[in-house]
Amino acid sequence: MNWRGWIKVALAMFVFAALHGAGAIAESIPTSFDARFEQSMEEAGLEFERMLLPLDCSKAPDEPRLVDSILVHFCSDAMENPDSPYDTRRIVDGFRRFRVSAHVLIDREGKVIQMVSLDRTAYHAGVGRIEGAPERENRLNEYSIGIELMGIGTRSEMSPFMEVERYDTIDPKDLGYTDPQYDALNRVIASIRRLFPEIGRDRRSIFGHDEWSPGRKTDPGALFDWERIGLRRYRGESGDSR
Ligand SMILES: [Zn+2]
Repeated sequence: MNWRGWIKVALAMFVFAALHGAGAIAESIPTSFDARFEQSMEEAGLEFERMLLPLDCSKAPDEPRLVDSILVHFCSDAMENPDSPYDTRRIVDGFRRFRVSAHVLIDREGKVIQMVSLDRTAYHAGVGRIEGAPERENRLNEYSIGIELMGIGTRSEMSPFMEVERYDTIDPKDLGYTDPQYDALNRVIASIRRLFPEIGRDRRSIFGHDEWSPGRKTDPGALFDWERIGLRRYRGESGDSR
């Protein structure tokens, strides 16, 4: 082969590596946990899609994880697009851009989108602490599954992210949470608890980002009704079960 031939071969190898290699690095392979989760979503009659984030948005645990908590969040694209705050692609892209993540995202119609393998540690909790678990301080990601609900909080909860005038242009139906979301969340929690039996069905195990990082985080906020997932409204000092 002459030098032109070698250049063609090198180019072809580069293109192949760019297409296949990058894809392999960018997404994790669904594991048996994930397969069981998907199956239980189907059995629950929920629409399910996997849109896995790049691996640098989460991490592989050093050892098998002890998962005993669920952290509930809200997310939207309201800061950029108050008229259309729930475009799934744009929201998932936002996680990708900021290299953060949660395992599961639930859209306004109750569709379940998995963004991170349940075997991996997602980046969703950040700095914080919770009564009753001092060893978890700033380390909740390792012990938890993160669930994002597409939702928008109250004016004051959203004030760190957007101007009041902009907030007031949001369609009221886009605020808070929807019935299909509560229904899906109940089923997602039931499924995740079957996979991780250390998670109790109580406020010791299941709490909000605003309870983990009060003052720093406002989600899921006052519009989230804990009683609709069978839990009491306030976690309280003891974190007792209901
Ligand atoms: Zn959050």
